[in-house]
Amino acid sequence: MSAHDPMPGPDPTITGPHDPEHHPGATLAFEPEYATALTQRLVATSGESVVVSSPLTGQPLAHIPQSSGADVDEAFRRARRAQEAWARTPVAEREAASLRFHDLVLDRQDEILDLIGWESGKARKHGYEELAHVALTARYCGRTSSRHLRSEQRPGVFPVLTRIDVNYVPKGVVGIISPWNYPFTLAMSDGLPALMAGNAVVIKPDAQTVLTALLGAQLLEEAGFPPDLWQVVAGPGADVGGAIVARADYVCFTGSTATGRIIASGCAERLVGCSLELGGKNPILVLRDADIERAAEGAVRASFSNAGQLCVSTERMFVADQLYDRFVDRFVARTDAMTLGATLDWGNDMGPLISEQQLRTVQAHVDDAVAKGAVVRTGGRARPDLAPYFFEPTILEGVTPDMACFGAETFGPVVSVYRFHDEADAVARANEGDYGLNGSIYSQDGSRAREIARQIKCGTVNINEGYGATFGSTHAPMGGMRQSGLGRRQGAEGIRRYTDIQSVGTQRLVRIAPMLGMSDAAFAKAMTASLRAMKKLGRA
Ligand code: NAD
Repeated sequence: MSAHDPMPGPDPTITGPHDPEHHPGATLAFEPEYATALTQRLVATSGESVVVSSPLTGQPLAHIPQSSGADVDEAFRRARRAQEAWARTPVAEREAASLRFHDLVLDRQDEILDLIGWESGKARKHGYEELAHVALTARYCGRTSSRHLRSEQRPGVFPVLTRIDVNYVPKGVVGIISPWNYPFTLAMSDGLPALMAGNAVVIKPDAQTVLTALLGAQLLEEAGFPPDLWQVVAGPGADVGGAIVARADYVCFTGSTATGRIIASGCAERLVGCSLELGGKNPILVLRDADIERAAEGAVRASFSNAGQLCVSTERMFVADQLYDRFVDRFVARTDAMTLGATLDWGNDMGPLISEQQLRTVQAHVDDAVAKGAVVRTGGRARPDLAPYFFEPTILEGVTPDMACFGAETFGPVVSVYRFHDEADAVARANEGDYGLNGSIYSQDGSRAREIARQIKCGTVNINEGYGATFGSTHAPMGGMRQSGLGRRQGAEGIRRYTDIQSVGTQRLVRIAPMLGMSDAAFAKAMTASLRAMKKLGRA
């Protein structure tokens, strides 16, 4: 049975892959009833469902009911109604709900981490990264939304006589289309700021990770957000995702650059805004004064977190000649020391890939590179003995532009290492290609590294860290340059993207036109004198 066979209702043969012996540390007995209870939150009445399997075992995990076009209509109808009341709810009350959500996420972490593990296969510590990011975002939203959304006064055309108020008005219903790789945070951390700004959300998670998104929805409701404010629909990207793009007042998309283009043109057609968080081919520069051990440790995390299925993870390393050999030896040694495993407990440094399709892509990139002369320093093999889609963390040398993995995103645990002699050349090579998501620099000279960072054409650059310094700093805007995206999540920008900015001008005493029988010519003369005076006074 294929994962996409439509099925009419529950299949008694699915008993859940709960097997404590095989999955030490599992605290969630994954029973079909658990999944069924979560799927009650879906707006999905088509009568069809798809079976989702766990990458830990390859065994069926749950039936996911599918949404029809009418279901998406219904989700938007409910969301619109809830949004009208929510927009009138004081921001302080929204903030309080976000802070309660923060606590719930931390309190319920075992359940959340188990579910992320079952659905995505990732190592528990990488699931925890997502969970911590959601908590950080909830705290940020809970503590700063009032400040970012408060109306502001700005100077008017005539000082004192013209008053300008700038208001941040909710968009309405925000559509979120999210991928499978960070299913908890890419649903919740993009959605919470939309709620803070007074919007409702209709979200379509990836087909593989619907349950995690549904658990997030349940926690929002438990935290006190109104029940209909957050609607979840499920189904194929082009159909259900397309239906969201056709209805939403703003779209937040995270996924591949190819799909991002489709979303952008759908939004352009309707003249609604969108933010696009897309792919990357992220470089690390290890400068000649880097601490080798720190760089090698960081490179392991930057390249192999979530088995490299992370938009900001590293696939290219440019290493200064002076320390290249010593660095690569340490990087290989640290990679060889990683604990690989497909279990729910703590202790694994890397889990399996999420799907057979991911495994095929990763294997194809490595096979192509090896066939064309690349050298595998470590890894390079699938490990079906660990889990059906497991692939070893892999370090390649000698990668050349004719190889697929040179410029195309692998989105797996494969990194190419290159030597450089000259820093300007390293920067130019790091900037090659169309992507511009995340970069990293290892150096013991922070100010010089920050100077170089300004030359890297990426939306985020981390110094002496792979991605966590920017990703974890929820005050810092995050997003891509060039083909890696449009718009920013996090920071004030991440909240205000979900608003329309409205300026209200109040004119007092004098009107902006000739008065008291003044001619147009006299008015123009008086205006000209006033314009010159304003400039002299240093007014903007
Ligand atoms: P994808 O583009 O195939 O799918 C992402 C989402 O879009 C899924 O929910 C999918 O169902 C939906 N979708 C697919 N086709 C659609 C269409 N025609 N209309 C509307 N929705 C559609 O991406 P993926 O393979 O699931 O995710 C991996 C990609 O996401 C990688 O390229 C990765 O770099 C990128 N990513 C980027 C970020 C970021 O923040 N920049 C974060 C995570 C992943």
